[in-house]
Amino acid sequence: MRQTKHRGPFQSVLVTTIFLAGLISINATAADYFRLPEFSVPQGTTIIHAGTLLAVPGEAPGTRQSIIVRSGKIVEIREGYTQAADIHAEGEVRIIDLSDRFVMPGFIDLHVHLSGQAGTGSPLDSVRMTDADIALTAQMYARRTLLGGFTTVRDLGSRGTAIFALRDAIRAGKIAGPKIIAAGESITPTGGHGDVHGFRQEVLDVLPSTGVCDGADDCRAAVRRQVKRGADVIKVTATGGVLSETATGTGQQFTDEELQVIADTAHALGRKVTAHAHDKAGIEAALRAGFDSIEHAMWADKGTMKLFKETGAWMIPTVYPITAVGDTPEKMKQGPFKDMPPPIMAKLLRLGRQPKDMTRLAHSMGVKIALGTDSGVSPHGENANEFIEYVNAGMSEMEALMTGTVNAAEAGGITDRAGSIEPGKAADIVAMAQSPLEDISAVLRVQFIMRDGVVFKQQH
Ligand SMILES: [Zn+2]
Repeated sequence: MRQTKHRGPFQSVLVTTIFLAGLISINATAADYFRLPEFSVPQGTTIIHAGTLLAVPGEAPGTRQSIIVRSGKIVEIREGYTQAADIHAEGEVRIIDLSDRFVMPGFIDLHVHLSGQAGTGSPLDSVRMTDADIALTAQMYARRTLLGGFTTVRDLGSRGTAIFALRDAIRAGKIAGPKIIAAGESITPTGGHGDVHGFRQEVLDVLPSTGVCDGADDCRAAVRRQVKRGADVIKVTATGGVLSETATGTGQQFTDEELQVIADTAHALGRKVTAHAHDKAGIEAALRAGFDSIEHAMWADKGTMKLFKETGAWMIPTVYPITAVGDTPEKMKQGPFKDMPPPIMAKLLRLGRQPKDMTRLAHSMGVKIALGTDSGVSPHGENANEFIEYVNAGMSEMEALMTGTVNAAEAGGITDRAGSIEPGKAADIVAMAQSPLEDISAVLRVQFIMRDGVVFKQQH
């Protein structure tokens, strides 16, 4: 990689910073260092020489192509290797040599929870941690997620305001992380999956939960409140959930009327609305209410799949966390969740192979699938394992790559800026030594990561 050369008094400062930042490289020249945010979009033009380029997953890859990047955006793709002398533009021209790499769009994960990670910390964290504590923890997970090749994520439920501060700080280039589409707090009924559990009543009474609502009017207000707080998307717990400490199963929790008013209010405010839903009745109620997507969809059957196709809603299966915590009762009882309280363990033991079987059925019936992991259940940074799960569930390698790029961009409402390497879109680009079209596990070994034109990782 050829970088702008600079000799000046701040050279040693810059070198030290690169050392401390480890794999993260800093694009600003030394003279700029104290004036610009940490991760600033480089001036001038960057030309990436791509040995193999999968510009639009779903279309055949090309070879020996050049991606021209300016102001953090892709401006042009040219055949062959364009040289600096071929570019007639103001400012510096940098060449990034990925001529021996497989180059593709940055990955997108539509379901993460950056504010925490199961199996770390203490059960008391929810009464001890301030928003500032959560933000500092979440920035670590955001950095790991980016270094796993994910340039955009959708955070579907984080307590307090930390997630909005994190989203904005990343966008401003202050810290390293993927771009975040943030839901804020989940819309949930009283005592529902997204409400607070596990403490005595006097403690629960003082824990804020801005997403709790009951009845149509209250739920309309709850959606409006999340948008006012800064939500980019509305997340709804339509059914019970596995990891809430409540023995209320995984059936429908919001009524049909509540789901309808939530979906209508979200859409009226220009937000997509997505439902956490496990049991068939709750998934189908959300689909009928016009939800844009369903998370998990654990016990969807053939009839449910037909409804997915009729409504055009996206399915976001979240398979990898179940593999990570144990996809048989034996593995579950020895895995990281072995000490979960009895109400949660009873629900965990019911999961087994169901996520894999359900995803196989959905794919075989032609349901639209976009990638989501529920990372935070599984460790942040391991998100790319979800691609492998989808291949194991019957997708071709190309179909799996589409779920975390073009499909996720469409389901997330960001096709104008992400999901493919095309002029006008953000320069969100990853590269690997091996082709994931031949061996899908290559997605676990991303060696180059650019987000909005800024290089965050480059291994030789
Ligand atoms: Zn989740």
